Formats: sequence, C-alpha cells, structure tokens
Amino acid sequence: MLLEHLTLANLRNYLSLEFGPAPGVNLLVGANAQGKSNLLEAIALLGTGKSFRTTRESELIRRGAPLASVSGTARVGAARPIAINLACTIVAGAGGTRKQYTLNGEGVRYASFLGSVKTVTFVPSDLSLVAGSPSLRRTMLNEALSLADSRYYRHLAAYRKALTQKNALLRGAIPPDPDLLAVYDEGLVREGTALILARRHYVAALGEVASSVHGHWIHGERLELRYAPNVFSYGAQAVTPTEDAVAAAFVERLAEQRAAEAARKVSLVGPHRDDLVFTLDGEPLATYGSQGQHRTAVLALKVAEYAVLSDRTGEAPILLLDDVFSELDADRATAFVGALSGVEQAFITATQPPRALKTQAEETVVWRVEAARLRRC
Ligand code: ATP
Ligand code: MG
Repeated sequence: MLLEHLTLANLRNYLSLEFGPAPGVNLLVGANAQGKSNLLEAIALLGTGKSFRTTRESELIRRGAPLASVSGTARVGAARPIAINLACTIVAGAGGTRKQYTLNGEGVRYASFLGSVKTVTFVPSDLSLVAGSPSLRRTMLNEALSLADSRYYRHLAAYRKALTQKNALLRGAIPPDPDLLAVYDEGLVREGTALILARRHYVAALGEVASSVHGHWIHGERLELRYAPNVFSYGAQAVTPTEDAVAAAFVERLAEQRAAEAARKVSLVGPHRDDLVFTLDGEPLATYGSQGQHRTAVLALKVAEYAVLSDRTGEAPILLLDDVFSELDADRATAFVGALSGVEQAFITATQPPRALKTQAEETVVWRVEAARLRRC
C-alpha cells in the first residue's frame, strides 16, 4: 500500500502541511526538534488511530489550537488497488479528548478505521521491548494482530470489557454476585481462547522469520521467540492445542485461582498476563543480552513483523522508522538496509543522511524537514 497524500492541521508543531510522499524510501532529514518524528506519528495515526508516543492524546493538538487533524489518501489492495481517504480528528474538550474517524468521508467507529492503512513502526523506545515490562510485549502483539485481522481486535475489545467488569466486581465496586462472576469468566474464556490461539500462531510465524533474519545478520547466534501464555503451557511448542483444550485449561486455572483473585481483588488469570520471551542461544536475552544484542533482536522482530503482515494480508504495509540508524553500527546498518530493499513505501527519519542508505538510489527520495516545513531535495 502507498500513502499518496497527507494533510495535517494543527498537529503537534505543524500548523498546516500538504505532503505528497513518493513510493519507495522517503528519507526525512533535519536537525533536532523540527518535526520529523511528529510526521511519522501522524502517518501511524492514520493506520492505527493512535499515537505511538503518548496515551495523552491532547498532546497531539498544536499548543493553543482547539483541535488537530490528519487526513490522507492511500492506495490499497494488492490485486485491484483502490484509493481510500482517511481522516482522524482529535478534539480537546472539558470532558477529555475525543477522536473522530472518517473513511471515504463517512464517520466510522475505531474498529472500522483501524487497519485500513497498515503500518509497521520502529521507534527508539521499542528497544525496551526485550527487557521492559511484559505489557510492552503484549501491546506489540495486540497492535500487530489487530492490524492483520479485524476479528482479533473484536475479540480483544470484548475480552477487555469482560475483564474491566470482572475487576470492578472483585474490587467491590459492584456488589458481589457469583452468577455475574460466572458470566464474566465465561466471556473471558470465550474471547481469551481466541486471543491465545491467535497469539500462539502469530508468535510462531514471527519467531521463524526473526530467527532467520537475525541469523543472516549475526552468524553463530540463534535468536528465538517463545510465547509464554498465562493459561496454557504447551511444553513442546510443536504441539498445536485445540480450542477446546485451551478453553478447558482456562476454566481449570480460573477455578484454581478463584480464592487468590478474591483475596487480591484483581483478575489473575488470562491472556492479559501473557508474555513473549526472547532467547539467544537458549539464554533469556532480557537478563543476559548486551544493549547491542537487544537492539539487533528488536530490529529482526520488526523485519519479521513486516514480513508476516505482508504475508497475511497479501500486501506490503507502510514502514515507519524513527531514528533507526542512530542506533546501529556501520555493519548492522548495512545489513538492515539490505532488509529494506524492495520495500513498497517507507518513511525514515534521521538527523544526517545515513551512510548505509544510498540516498542517490532511484527508490530513495530525500526530504528536508525544517520548522515543520518539508522541502524535497
Ligand atoms: P529529533 O531529531 O530531536 O528527534 P524531531 O524532528 O523528530 O527531532 P519532533 O519530535 O517531531 O522532532 O518534535 C518537533 C517539535 O514539536 C518539538 O520542538 C516539540 O516541542 C514540538 N511539539 C510537540 N508537541 C507539540 C504541540 N502539541 N504543539 C506545538 N509543538 C509541539
Ligand atoms: Mg525525532
């Protein structure tokens, strides 16, 4: 898919911008604090409907403005491409920030907006994916799977609703009622089983590509990804559990943990407690790996995310790479550029044109970003 046009109004430091990116690599070069990351954030907003930098979305609105908007035209569909128009408006109000989504001029709900344009993003904070809290890894899984398959997002939304209700019950925010608890648990098992199976399948595919990419870059080190579900442990990963087996294990764990959940007043069982483990030659990377090893593993993971999403949707997503080259030594930068070749469209920010990237190549267009303005070089 290709982003053909982008319009910003009052987004971050952009008062207004009309941008017609090129196919292939769009390199956004400029000094610090000019608006490079803000532009990437705006493109990601069209894909995911969310900021990759903040959960306080009022920050996206240019200081002093009442609302911000991002809109764009993209060409999507591998076999018979069509142009779609997308827009996301962020409005600050007394009761909090609201977002409105439109698809081809019609107001739509988040679930319908999400994933019309698919993006894979690397931001420097992704480097904490390996060793940071499990919630970062769950978010990564949820975002990637929601983009790949709208059914996943529906299961996730239904799961979160049941979880919020169950936690309210356990906390005592609503009167205790065993029947109600059973209803919420039933919802968790139904929706959670779908999440567990989708994650398991996805991590297997992701791990295979990440491991192979990593093996090409770093000879003699074996990267592996392992799904660590809270509910169902597979022992040998080769065994594919049935839906019934996962649901039965879920019910059993809920029964085992009922007293503990009541005592701690919080839900302890389910995929909201899943994790993903990176190992290098069998050792956990989070505790044993160097900074450079974490970085290489995360980049291999991003390349894998791109490959798996392309494979599942039959279409190349848009790649967004924020400051990726400042994180790499010369050899790794060259290896990473190799993985970029043939990409349909990418947006890459840098303070200096990276040496590893042939900026004279036909498929690379350089844009200079200065004080929220873009100039094609
Ligand atoms: P770096 O190379 O340091 O990463 P950058 O070009 O990526 O720089 P951005 O993160 O895009 O910089 O930010 C550019 C500017 O936007 C910053 O000076 C920041 O203060 C400003 N900015 C962020 N949010 C808002 C906002 N809501 N209103 C106005 N300006 C903002
Ligand atoms: Mg930046």
